[in-house]
Amino acid sequence: MPFIKGNIPHNKGKKLSEDTKKAVSETRLKKFKEGKIKIWNKSKKMSEDFKKKLSLFYKENPFSEEHRRNISKAKKGKKPYEMTDKTREKMSKSFKGRKLKPLTEEQKRKISIANKKVIHTPEWNLKIGLTKRGVKKSEKTRQKMSEARLKRVFPIKDTSIEVKLQNFLKEQHIEFSTHYPILGQPDIFIKPNICIFADGCYWHKCPECGFGHGKERDVMVTRELQKQGYVVIRMWEHEINDSSFTESMNLKQTRWQKLLPK
Ligand SMILES: [Zn+2]
Repeated sequence: MPFIKGNIPHNKGKKLSEDTKKAVSETRLKKFKEGKIKIWNKSKKMSEDFKKKLSLFYKENPFSEEHRRNISKAKKGKKPYEMTDKTREKMSKSFKGRKLKPLTEEQKRKISIANKKVIHTPEWNLKIGLTKRGVKKSEKTRQKMSEARLKRVFPIKDTSIEVKLQNFLKEQHIEFSTHYPILGQPDIFIKPNICIFADGCYWHKCPECGFGHGKERDVMVTRELQKQGYVVIRMWEHEINDSSFTESMNLKQTRWQKLLPK
């Protein structure tokens, strides 16, 4: 019966006899055992007294097979952090198709401030590596990290060619930051104004590999960045993967010599 303002419960002020109390409590326990009442106070703590009574009751009256089955069924549907393969597939599909929204000026400014603090010097990388090595992450942290990774707008993982470029720059002790938050989000940015893109041959339609005539957007981004005063270097995947990669990246070569800070 819904509570209506002004109504006085029929049993208000009346004290239950000990017998009635016992009867009520036993009925309640019986119904609970049969699975007929839901636990309304799930998150509330039970009184010690009630817990004792309950455990005694269970000892004397074990759950019926059917109720046990029902409980196990109910539990099966409630694994909070486990995704089905289908959900995972859907998420991955929707993520793949996601296009980056252009950032607002305010967002850009914030990212740029944050980014200034994340410049990967070799010393810094060494430090991070050292701290990471000794620490084992708990399952919870791991879970949180993987969730955060899914939400990230930046690419989930650097491609192997990006990593190759990064390693090369580290060897040369050149400071750089990755996925610099300006137009085109250069894979590597070297202060004060050098943008390096590692373009996959298939996705960026490399003409030399026969995938097309380059991406229009790439050309547009390059031009616009140049207009803004940036120096733009685009490296094709096949160049980076070539055995003469180090040679082509050699700082003594004119292509780089002009660009990199002394
Ligand atoms: Zn190519």
